Amino acid sequence: MTDWRLNGQEEYLTGKTLYRIVLPDYWQEAYTTKNSFFQKIKKYAETYVRELKRGHEYLEGEKIGLFWHEHCEFCWDKAMSDTEGTFYCTEDMYYWVCQECFDDFKNDFNWTEKTAEELPETDVSKYEPVFIVTKKNEE
Ligand SMILES: [Zn+2]
Repeated sequence: MTDWRLNGQEEYLTGKTLYRIVLPDYWQEAYTTKNSFFQKIKKYAETYVRELKRGHEYLEGEKIGLFWHEHCEFCWDKAMSDTEGTFYCTEDMYYWVCQECFDDFKNDFNWTEKTAEELPETDVSKYEPVFIVTKKNEE
């Protein structure tokens, strides 16, 4: 049986513990508590603004959440801080899976489901934001 969504994810997602994230509630909580999810977004946003020299108006208050989005590893459904949706992420919050794909593949991938409250706080100081910078007028 083949599924268009399967593309080698078993190599890095088999047997993982996935944490259930309900948006936008989780973002609201992260913004209030300033947890590591918030700190990561903040670091990314500040790096973005510094490198690209734009978007500084979004560093104020809750707008900073607009810097973040992720895609489902299987169907590419988009997770955003201001849009309703339930997703599951790995402990490092690097891989995200939407509710539908989680339900479809949880048995095949042998996932363990945990709640957002069980998500451990991570050391954000080691987090290096990565994004593509297009430099104009390069010599
Ligand atoms: Zn999906």
